[in-house]
Amino acid sequence: MSMFTGIPEAPQDPILGTTTLFNADTDPRKINLGVGAYRTEDGKPFVLEVVREAEAQMLKDLGTKCNKEYSTIDGPPELKKQTQGLLFGKDNEAVTSGRIASVQALSGTGALRVATEFIKTHIAKGGDKDIYVSDPTWGNHNAIFAKAGLTVKSYPYWAPATKSLNIDGMLAALGAAAEGSIVLLHACAHNPTGVDPTEAQWESIVKVMQEKKLVPLMDSAYQGYASGSLDKDAYAVRLFLSKGFEFFMCQSFAKNLGLYGERIGMLHIICQTPELAKVVLSQVKLVIRPMYSSPPKHGAELVMHILGTEAQYAKWQQELEGMAKRILEVRDLLRKGLEAKGTPGTWNHITDQIGMFSFTGLSQAQCERLISQHHIYLLKSGRISLAGLNKGNIQYMVDCVDEVVR
Ligand code: PMP
Repeated sequence: MSMFTGIPEAPQDPILGTTTLFNADTDPRKINLGVGAYRTEDGKPFVLEVVREAEAQMLKDLGTKCNKEYSTIDGPPELKKQTQGLLFGKDNEAVTSGRIASVQALSGTGALRVATEFIKTHIAKGGDKDIYVSDPTWGNHNAIFAKAGLTVKSYPYWAPATKSLNIDGMLAALGAAAEGSIVLLHACAHNPTGVDPTEAQWESIVKVMQEKKLVPLMDSAYQGYASGSLDKDAYAVRLFLSKGFEFFMCQSFAKNLGLYGERIGMLHIICQTPELAKVVLSQVKLVIRPMYSSPPKHGAELVMHILGTEAQYAKWQQELEGMAKRILEVRDLLRKGLEAKGTPGTWNHITDQIGMFSFTGLSQAQCERLISQHHIYLLKSGRISLAGLNKGNIQYMVDCVDEVVR
């Protein structure tokens, strides 16, 4: 008998599984709205021009300025400075004083995993620690935090009746949390709802978190995708920094640089003093070394090239704005299409929401019908990635949504 006999087969990942189903579908009308990856107007994966140029430069520099030796456990110092600047503002006192402990991470997921492993060891000191996540949140959050041994709890976020933020519910739950609990916050472009707090609501969140001494774990996976501006989308991050919090900040370049498969991100830990940051960094390195030893170099080189070259940085901002704009156009077309058809219900939330996703409000049964009868792959929660829509398939989408809603 095999030692593997009796191991149950695990279910498919609910997000990545939609791509498997999509790939197996031979119908020419099929649309993939499952995974959150940008697509061009022709529905193709998109490599940013700045990334192409950085790749070409890297090839020229290979063997001189760059090589394939191991990176350090925590990644290049230059990358740390640049990525801190991008999130917090390069002249911010926290950045210039050196009180942020930063490590390169395996994209946003890796940053979250390392952060929570560190929290379990040094903040929870191996004991129980609650981490609050929004209800709903990106599905992997729950799994990552549970794996790290934290107790995952949730705070209300989505108000189904108004398809907007349940700020009262959120504040009440945070107000009732145990002192010192960790609170996962989406820095911008909340996944899956596409609903972010307003500036005034962020202030209320800050207030209750200060009162209850709650610890922010901010997840920035979409900087630049919400508004098209990198600075505007860093509003919440900079607010927490300005209020004197010590906190954890996870940063991903998957979406805003289209570097999904390169697994490039950062974990920044904001400490009160440079001395504390030094100690924290030494301990985060002890988390990383036995986990994966050191991070990959390729994505790091690309990011350093783009952030470190003025012309490239400017070009990136333009390209990012272009991606954000196309998503906004698609939102508009989808809403107008449904309204023009008189599809039952209200559809203003599609354009009110921001970022890559729309939480459509479609029921599970309606989603299942879209998948099984219309070859439109979306999450059963009703989340769609707008990146999969374009002028060529939007009318089909409208017609099918109309059909399942009636
Ligand atoms: N956080 C959120 C909210 C996300 O949506 C994602 C990607 N879907 C991530 C983190 C992590 O993505 P990655 O590991 O590819 O950077």
